[in-house]
Amino acid sequence: MISNKMVEYVQSSSIIRAMFEEGKRLAAIHGAENVYDFSLGNPNAEAPKAVKDAIIEIINNESVTMVHGYMNNSGYEDVRVAIAQSINNKFGTSFNETNIVMTVGAAGGLNVILKTLLNPGDEVIVFAPYFGEYRSYVANYDGNLVVVSPNTVDFQPNLAEFKEKITSRTKAVIINSPNNPTGVVYSKDTIIKLSEILREKQSELGTDIYIISDEPYRELSYDGVEVPYLTQYYDNTIVGYSYSKSLSLPGERIGYLVIPHEVADFANMIAAANVANRILGFVNAPSLFQRVIAKCLNADVDIDIYNKNRELLYNSLIEYGYECIKPEGAFYLFVKSPIADEKEFCSVAKKYNILIVPGTSFACPGYVRMAYCVSYQTIEKALPSFKALIEEVRK
Ligand code: PLP
Repeated sequence: MISNKMVEYVQSSSIIRAMFEEGKRLAAIHGAENVYDFSLGNPNAEAPKAVKDAIIEIINNESVTMVHGYMNNSGYEDVRVAIAQSINNKFGTSFNETNIVMTVGAAGGLNVILKTLLNPGDEVIVFAPYFGEYRSYVANYDGNLVVVSPNTVDFQPNLAEFKEKITSRTKAVIINSPNNPTGVVYSKDTIIKLSEILREKQSELGTDIYIISDEPYRELSYDGVEVPYLTQYYDNTIVGYSYSKSLSLPGERIGYLVIPHEVADFANMIAAANVANRILGFVNAPSLFQRVIAKCLNADVDIDIYNKNRELLYNSLIEYGYECIKPEGAFYLFVKSPIADEKEFCSVAKKYNILIVPGTSFACPGYVRMAYCVSYQTIEKALPSFKALIEEVRK
Protein backbone atom coordinates (compact mmCIF):
# COMPACT_ATOMS: atom_id res chain seq x y z
CA MET A 1 0.00 0.00 0.00
CA ILE A 2 1.49 3.35 -1.01
CA SER A 3 1.68 6.24 1.42
CA ASN A 4 -1.31 8.54 1.96
CA LYS A 5 0.74 11.51 0.76
CA MET A 6 1.57 9.74 -2.49
CA VAL A 7 -2.09 8.85 -3.05
CA GLU A 8 -2.82 12.60 -3.00
CA TYR A 9 0.10 13.44 -5.29
CA VAL A 10 -0.88 10.83 -7.83
CA GLN A 11 -4.45 12.15 -7.87
CA SER A 12 -3.37 15.76 -8.28
CA SER A 13 -0.96 14.88 -11.13
CA SER A 14 -3.88 13.54 -13.09
CA ILE A 15 -4.55 16.65 -15.24
CA ILE A 16 -1.11 16.63 -16.83
CA ARG A 17 -1.09 12.85 -17.11
CA ALA A 18 -4.53 12.93 -18.72
CA MET A 19 -3.29 15.54 -21.20
CA PHE A 20 -0.29 13.39 -22.10
CA GLU A 21 -2.56 10.39 -22.66
CA GLU A 22 -4.97 12.53 -24.68
CA GLY A 23 -2.09 13.71 -26.92
CA LYS A 24 -1.12 10.11 -27.60
CA ARG A 25 -4.73 9.12 -28.29
CA LEU A 26 -5.28 12.03 -30.71
CA ALA A 27 -1.98 11.36 -32.49
CA ALA A 28 -2.96 7.71 -33.03
CA ILE A 29 -6.26 8.79 -34.64
CA HIS A 30 -5.21 11.89 -36.63
CA GLY A 31 -1.43 11.47 -37.04
CA ALA A 32 1.07 13.27 -34.79
CA GLU A 33 1.51 16.07 -37.37
CA ASN A 34 -2.19 16.98 -37.05
CA VAL A 35 -2.15 17.32 -33.27
CA TYR A 36 -1.20 20.76 -31.96
CA ASP A 37 0.38 20.08 -28.63
CA PHE A 38 1.00 23.35 -26.77
CA SER A 39 0.88 21.66 -23.39
CA LEU A 40 4.52 20.99 -22.51
CA GLY A 41 7.51 23.24 -21.89
CA ASN A 42 9.82 20.86 -23.72
CA PRO A 43 12.18 23.04 -25.83
CA ASN A 44 12.19 22.38 -29.56
CA ALA A 45 15.21 24.59 -30.39
CA GLU A 46 18.25 22.36 -30.84
CA ALA A 47 21.02 22.38 -28.27
CA PRO A 48 23.91 24.48 -29.64
CA LYS A 49 26.64 22.65 -31.58
CA ALA A 50 29.07 23.62 -28.80
CA VAL A 51 27.35 21.02 -26.59
CA LYS A 52 27.97 18.14 -28.97
CA ASP A 53 31.56 19.30 -29.58
CA ALA A 54 32.18 19.49 -25.82
CA ILE A 55 30.80 15.98 -25.22
CA ILE A 56 33.07 14.53 -27.89
CA GLU A 57 36.11 16.43 -26.71
CA ILE A 58 35.58 15.38 -23.08
CA ILE A 59 35.02 11.74 -23.95
CA ASN A 60 38.12 11.70 -26.17
CA ASN A 61 40.48 13.74 -24.03
CA GLU A 62 39.58 13.71 -20.34
CA SER A 63 40.31 10.96 -17.84
CA VAL A 64 37.55 8.34 -17.91
CA THR A 65 37.65 7.72 -14.17
CA MET A 66 37.42 11.45 -13.54
CA VAL A 67 34.59 12.09 -16.03
CA HIS A 68 32.42 9.25 -14.74
CA GLY A 69 33.46 9.29 -11.11
CA TYR A 70 32.07 10.64 -7.87
CA MET A 71 33.24 14.07 -6.81
CA ASN A 72 32.42 16.57 -4.05
CA ASN A 73 28.63 16.58 -3.59
CA SER A 74 28.60 20.24 -4.67
CA GLY A 75 30.25 19.37 -7.98
CA TYR A 76 33.65 19.58 -9.65
CA GLU A 77 35.64 22.50 -8.30
CA ASP A 78 36.96 23.65 -11.70
CA VAL A 79 33.41 23.68 -13.09
CA ARG A 80 32.18 25.76 -10.16
CA VAL A 81 35.10 28.19 -10.62
CA ALA A 82 34.21 28.60 -14.31
CA ILE A 83 30.51 29.16 -13.57
CA ALA A 84 31.22 31.69 -10.80
CA GLN A 85 33.50 33.65 -13.14
CA SER A 86 30.96 33.62 -15.92
CA ILE A 87 28.24 35.00 -13.59
CA ASN A 88 30.67 37.66 -12.37
CA ASN A 89 31.44 38.70 -15.95
CA LYS A 90 27.76 39.02 -16.79
CA PHE A 91 26.45 40.70 -13.63
CA GLY A 92 29.44 42.33 -11.93
CA THR A 93 29.10 40.04 -8.89
CA SER A 94 32.05 38.54 -6.99
CA PHE A 95 31.24 34.86 -6.55
CA ASN A 96 33.73 32.03 -6.35
CA GLU A 97 33.46 28.24 -6.31
CA THR A 98 32.31 28.22 -2.67
CA ASN A 99 29.10 29.97 -3.75
CA ILE A 100 28.10 27.37 -6.34
CA VAL A 101 26.39 24.00 -5.80
CA MET A 102 25.84 21.97 -8.98
CA THR A 103 22.33 20.48 -9.05
CA VAL A 104 20.09 18.08 -10.90
CA GLY A 105 18.37 20.83 -12.89
CA ALA A 106 16.27 23.59 -11.35
CA ALA A 107 13.98 20.99 -9.78
CA GLY A 108 16.94 19.40 -7.98
CA GLY A 109 18.20 22.83 -6.91
CA LEU A 110 14.83 23.88 -5.50
CA ASN A 111 14.55 20.65 -3.53
CA VAL A 112 18.08 21.05 -2.17
CA ILE A 113 17.49 24.60 -0.99
CA LEU A 114 14.03 23.86 0.47
CA LYS A 115 15.45 20.84 2.31
CA THR A 116 18.24 23.12 3.56
CA LEU A 117 15.91 25.87 4.81
CA LEU A 118 12.57 24.47 5.96
CA ASN A 119 11.42 23.33 9.36
CA PRO A 120 7.96 21.72 9.40
CA GLY A 121 5.30 24.45 9.31
CA ASP A 122 7.60 27.09 7.80
CA GLU A 123 5.87 29.19 5.18
CA VAL A 124 6.99 29.69 1.59
CA ILE A 125 5.30 32.47 -0.35
CA VAL A 126 4.64 32.16 -4.09
CA PHE A 127 2.95 34.54 -6.52
CA ALA A 128 0.08 33.13 -8.56
CA PRO A 129 0.18 32.11 -11.30
CA TYR A 130 3.11 29.87 -10.38
CA PHE A 131 4.78 26.64 -11.57
CA GLY A 132 2.55 23.96 -9.99
CA GLU A 133 5.46 21.75 -8.92
CA TYR A 134 6.30 24.26 -6.15
CA ARG A 135 3.36 22.77 -4.23
CA SER A 136 5.01 19.36 -4.09
CA TYR A 137 8.53 20.67 -3.53
CA VAL A 138 7.43 22.69 -0.47
CA ALA A 139 5.26 19.82 0.82
CA ASN A 140 8.28 17.47 0.50
CA TYR A 141 9.79 19.24 3.54
CA ASP A 142 6.48 19.80 5.39
CA GLY A 143 6.45 23.50 4.55
CA ASN A 144 3.24 25.45 4.00
CA LEU A 145 2.75 27.14 0.64
CA VAL A 146 1.24 30.62 0.96
CA VAL A 147 -0.19 31.92 -2.30
CA VAL A 148 -0.42 35.60 -3.23
CA SER A 149 -3.34 36.04 -5.62
CA PRO A 150 -2.69 37.00 -9.24
CA ASN A 151 -2.57 40.53 -10.55
CA THR A 152 -4.25 39.91 -13.87
CA VAL A 153 -3.63 43.46 -15.13
CA ASP A 154 0.04 42.91 -15.97
CA PHE A 155 0.96 39.77 -13.96
CA GLN A 156 3.62 41.60 -11.93
CA PRO A 157 3.43 40.33 -8.31
CA ASN A 158 0.69 41.76 -6.12
CA LEU A 159 2.96 43.48 -3.58
CA ALA A 160 0.26 44.88 -1.28
CA GLU A 161 -1.11 41.38 -0.64
CA PHE A 162 2.44 40.01 -0.42
CA LYS A 163 3.25 42.38 2.44
CA GLU A 164 0.15 41.29 4.32
CA LYS A 165 0.97 37.60 3.95
CA ILE A 166 4.45 37.77 5.49
CA THR A 167 4.43 36.32 9.02
CA SER A 168 6.97 35.22 11.62
CA ARG A 169 6.82 31.75 9.96
CA THR A 170 7.76 33.08 6.49
CA LYS A 171 11.05 31.44 5.58
CA ALA A 172 11.27 32.00 1.85
CA VAL A 173 9.68 33.60 -1.19
CA ILE A 174 9.99 31.90 -4.57
CA ILE A 175 10.30 34.25 -7.53
CA ASN A 176 10.27 33.01 -11.11
CA SER A 177 11.12 35.53 -13.81
CA PRO A 178 10.87 35.22 -16.79
CA ASN A 179 7.76 33.50 -15.57
CA ASN A 180 6.15 30.18 -16.26
CA PRO A 181 3.22 30.38 -17.12
CA THR A 182 2.85 34.09 -18.06
CA GLY A 183 6.14 34.87 -19.84
CA VAL A 184 6.25 38.09 -17.80
CA VAL A 185 9.61 39.49 -16.69
CA TYR A 186 9.44 41.06 -13.22
CA SER A 187 10.59 44.66 -13.64
CA LYS A 188 13.45 46.33 -11.79
CA ASP A 189 10.89 48.50 -10.04
CA THR A 190 9.02 45.38 -8.81
CA ILE A 191 12.24 43.81 -7.55
CA ILE A 192 13.31 46.98 -5.73
CA LYS A 193 9.91 47.32 -4.01
CA LEU A 194 9.73 43.63 -3.15
CA SER A 195 13.23 43.76 -1.63
CA GLU A 196 12.30 46.81 0.44
CA ILE A 197 9.23 45.05 1.82
CA LEU A 198 11.34 42.03 2.78
CA ARG A 199 14.02 44.13 4.48
CA GLU A 200 11.33 45.99 6.46
CA LYS A 201 9.64 42.73 7.50
CA GLN A 202 12.94 41.09 8.47
CA SER A 203 13.75 43.89 10.86
CA GLU A 204 10.17 44.15 12.18
CA LEU A 205 9.91 40.37 12.81
CA GLY A 206 13.58 39.74 13.66
CA THR A 207 13.74 36.84 11.19
CA ASP A 208 15.59 35.96 8.01
CA ILE A 209 13.46 35.67 4.90
CA TYR A 210 15.17 34.25 1.82
CA ILE A 211 14.33 34.91 -1.81
CA ILE A 212 14.70 31.79 -3.94
CA SER A 213 15.02 33.02 -7.50
CA ASP A 214 14.04 30.18 -9.83
CA GLU A 215 15.63 31.12 -13.16
CA PRO A 216 15.43 28.41 -15.81
CA TYR A 217 14.20 31.01 -18.35
CA ARG A 218 16.77 33.75 -17.58
CA GLU A 219 18.33 33.53 -21.04
CA LEU A 220 14.98 33.57 -22.84
CA SER A 221 14.00 37.23 -22.98
CA TYR A 222 13.00 39.30 -25.99
CA ASP A 223 13.27 42.85 -27.31
CA GLY A 224 16.36 43.49 -25.15
CA VAL A 225 14.33 43.48 -21.90
CA GLU A 226 16.46 43.45 -18.74
CA VAL A 227 16.04 40.54 -16.30
CA PRO A 228 17.34 41.90 -12.96
CA TYR A 229 19.92 39.72 -11.13
CA LEU A 230 18.40 39.45 -7.69
CA THR A 231 21.53 39.09 -5.55
CA GLN A 232 22.24 42.73 -6.46
CA TYR A 233 19.02 43.88 -4.81
CA TYR A 234 18.61 41.69 -1.74
CA ASP A 235 21.30 39.99 0.37
CA ASN A 236 19.30 36.91 1.40
CA THR A 237 18.90 35.73 -2.20
CA ILE A 238 19.62 32.24 -3.47
CA VAL A 239 19.56 31.75 -7.24
CA GLY A 240 18.49 28.45 -8.81
CA TYR A 241 19.62 28.15 -12.43
CA SER A 242 19.15 25.43 -15.01
CA TYR A 243 20.42 24.62 -18.49
CA SER A 244 17.17 22.81 -19.37
CA LYS A 245 15.84 25.70 -21.44
CA SER A 246 18.88 27.94 -22.07
CA LEU A 247 20.79 25.08 -23.75
CA SER A 248 17.78 22.83 -24.50
CA LEU A 249 19.05 20.07 -22.21
CA PRO A 250 16.03 19.22 -20.01
CA GLY A 251 16.68 15.49 -19.98
CA GLU A 252 20.31 15.89 -18.92
CA ARG A 253 19.28 17.33 -15.53
CA ILE A 254 21.92 19.98 -15.01
CA GLY A 255 21.82 23.30 -13.16
CA TYR A 256 23.26 25.03 -10.11
CA LEU A 257 22.46 27.04 -7.00
CA VAL A 258 24.20 30.31 -6.18
CA ILE A 259 24.44 30.86 -2.43
CA PRO A 260 26.15 34.25 -1.95
CA HIS A 261 28.44 34.98 1.01
CA GLU A 262 25.98 37.72 2.02
CA VAL A 263 23.15 35.31 2.94
CA ALA A 264 22.43 34.91 6.61
CA ASP A 265 24.03 31.73 8.04
CA PHE A 266 26.16 31.31 4.88
CA ALA A 267 28.65 28.71 6.15
CA ASN A 268 25.96 26.43 7.55
CA MET A 269 23.82 26.90 4.49
CA ILE A 270 26.56 25.82 2.09
CA ALA A 271 27.38 22.81 4.25
CA ALA A 272 23.70 21.89 4.47
CA ALA A 273 23.07 22.27 0.73
CA ASN A 274 26.03 19.98 0.05
CA VAL A 275 24.61 17.34 2.41
CA ALA A 276 21.05 17.83 1.08
CA ASN A 277 22.29 17.10 -2.46
CA ARG A 278 23.67 13.81 -1.13
CA ILE A 279 20.91 12.66 1.17
CA LEU A 280 18.07 13.51 -1.20
CA GLY A 281 19.67 10.83 -3.34
CA PHE A 282 21.00 13.10 -6.07
CA VAL A 283 24.51 12.63 -4.57
CA ASN A 284 25.84 15.02 -7.21
CA ALA A 285 24.74 16.61 -10.48
CA PRO A 286 25.48 14.46 -13.57
CA SER A 287 29.25 14.38 -13.96
CA LEU A 288 29.62 14.43 -17.76
CA PHE A 289 27.22 17.34 -18.11
CA GLN A 290 28.95 19.36 -15.40
CA ARG A 291 32.08 19.13 -17.55
CA VAL A 292 30.13 19.93 -20.72
CA ILE A 293 28.60 23.04 -19.19
CA ALA A 294 32.01 24.40 -18.22
CA LYS A 295 32.90 24.38 -21.92
CA CYS A 296 29.62 25.95 -23.07
CA LEU A 297 29.32 28.96 -20.81
CA ASN A 298 29.09 31.34 -23.74
CA ALA A 299 26.74 29.19 -25.81
CA ASP A 300 23.01 29.83 -26.11
CA VAL A 301 20.14 28.34 -28.04
CA ASP A 302 18.90 30.42 -30.96
CA ILE A 303 16.15 32.37 -29.20
CA ASP A 304 15.13 33.87 -32.49
CA ILE A 305 13.27 30.61 -33.04
CA TYR A 306 11.11 31.26 -29.98
CA ASN A 307 10.78 34.95 -30.79
CA LYS A 308 9.35 34.18 -34.24
CA ASN A 309 6.92 31.72 -32.66
CA ARG A 310 5.94 34.32 -30.06
CA GLU A 311 5.24 36.98 -32.69
CA LEU A 312 3.24 34.65 -34.90
CA LEU A 313 1.11 33.08 -32.18
CA TYR A 314 0.56 36.26 -30.18
CA ASN A 315 -0.30 38.48 -33.18
CA SER A 316 -2.62 35.89 -34.69
CA LEU A 317 -4.49 35.17 -31.46
CA ILE A 318 -5.02 38.89 -30.82
CA GLU A 319 -6.32 39.27 -34.37
CA TYR A 320 -8.84 36.45 -33.78
CA GLY A 321 -10.11 38.17 -30.62
CA TYR A 322 -8.21 36.36 -27.85
CA GLU A 323 -6.97 38.47 -24.93
CA CYS A 324 -3.40 38.10 -23.72
CA ILE A 325 -0.53 40.28 -22.58
CA LYS A 326 2.52 40.10 -24.82
CA PRO A 327 5.14 38.06 -22.96
CA GLU A 328 8.69 39.41 -22.73
CA GLY A 329 10.33 36.11 -21.86
CA ALA A 330 10.18 32.29 -21.56
CA PHE A 331 8.10 30.48 -24.20
CA TYR A 332 4.55 30.64 -22.90
CA LEU A 333 1.44 32.68 -23.65
CA PHE A 334 -1.06 33.01 -20.81
CA VAL A 335 -4.34 33.64 -22.58
CA LYS A 336 -7.64 34.70 -21.03
CA SER A 337 -10.17 31.96 -21.57
CA PRO A 338 -12.93 33.31 -23.86
CA ILE A 339 -15.44 31.51 -21.61
CA ALA A 340 -15.52 31.66 -17.81
CA ASP A 341 -14.69 27.98 -17.26
CA GLU A 342 -11.22 27.54 -18.71
CA LYS A 343 -11.29 23.77 -18.19
CA GLU A 344 -14.34 23.61 -20.44
CA PHE A 345 -12.45 25.77 -22.97
CA CYS A 346 -9.51 23.33 -22.90
CA SER A 347 -11.89 20.43 -23.59
CA VAL A 348 -13.49 22.25 -26.53
CA ALA A 349 -9.95 22.97 -27.82
CA LYS A 350 -9.29 19.21 -27.90
CA LYS A 351 -12.01 18.86 -30.55
CA TYR A 352 -9.68 20.96 -32.73
CA ASN A 353 -6.71 18.79 -31.74
CA ILE A 354 -5.31 21.70 -29.70
CA LEU A 355 -3.80 20.77 -26.35
CA ILE A 356 -3.41 23.59 -23.80
CA VAL A 357 -3.21 23.67 -20.01
CA PRO A 358 -5.91 25.15 -17.73
CA GLY A 359 -4.79 28.06 -15.54
CA THR A 360 -6.07 26.22 -12.45
CA SER A 361 -2.86 24.14 -12.63
CA PHE A 362 -1.02 27.42 -11.93
CA ALA A 363 -3.52 28.71 -9.33
CA CYS A 364 -5.03 31.13 -11.84
CA PRO A 365 -8.40 29.94 -13.13
CA GLY A 366 -9.94 31.71 -16.13
CA TYR A 367 -6.70 31.54 -18.14
CA VAL A 368 -4.93 28.91 -20.23
CA ARG A 369 -1.24 28.35 -20.88
CA MET A 370 0.08 27.75 -24.38
CA ALA A 371 3.70 26.59 -24.67
CA TYR A 372 5.02 27.86 -28.00
CA CYS A 373 8.31 25.92 -27.87
CA VAL A 374 7.02 23.93 -30.85
CA SER A 375 7.92 24.17 -34.53
CA TYR A 376 6.90 27.29 -36.48
CA GLN A 377 5.02 24.98 -38.87
CA THR A 378 2.96 23.56 -36.00
CA ILE A 379 1.83 27.08 -35.12
CA GLU A 380 1.10 27.96 -38.76
CA LYS A 381 -0.96 24.80 -39.16
CA ALA A 382 -2.80 25.31 -35.86
CA LEU A 383 -3.88 28.91 -36.55
CA PRO A 384 -7.10 28.15 -38.50
CA SER A 385 -8.11 25.83 -35.64
CA PHE A 386 -7.48 28.56 -33.04
CA LYS A 387 -9.70 30.86 -35.12
CA ALA A 388 -12.47 28.27 -35.45
CA LEU A 389 -12.19 27.51 -31.73
CA ILE A 390 -12.86 31.08 -30.57
CA GLU A 391 -15.66 31.42 -33.12
CA GLU A 392 -17.32 28.29 -31.74
CA VAL A 393 -17.14 29.27 -28.06
CA ARG A 394 -18.27 32.85 -28.79
CA LYS A 395 -21.38 31.70 -30.68
N1 PLP B 1 10.97 26.00 -12.51
C1 PLP B 1 10.16 26.37 -13.51
C2 PLP B 1 9.45 27.66 -13.40
C3 PLP B 1 9.98 25.54 -14.63
O1 PLP B 1 9.15 25.95 -15.61
C4 PLP B 1 10.67 24.32 -14.70
C5 PLP B 1 10.49 23.40 -15.82
O2 PLP B 1 9.68 23.57 -16.70
C6 PLP B 1 11.51 23.98 -13.62
C7 PLP B 1 11.64 24.82 -12.55
C8 PLP B 1 12.25 22.69 -13.62
O3 PLP B 1 13.35 22.81 -14.48
P1 PLP B 1 14.44 21.65 -14.62
O4 PLP B 1 14.06 20.85 -15.83
O5 PLP B 1 15.72 22.37 -14.83
O6 PLP B 1 14.41 20.87 -13.39
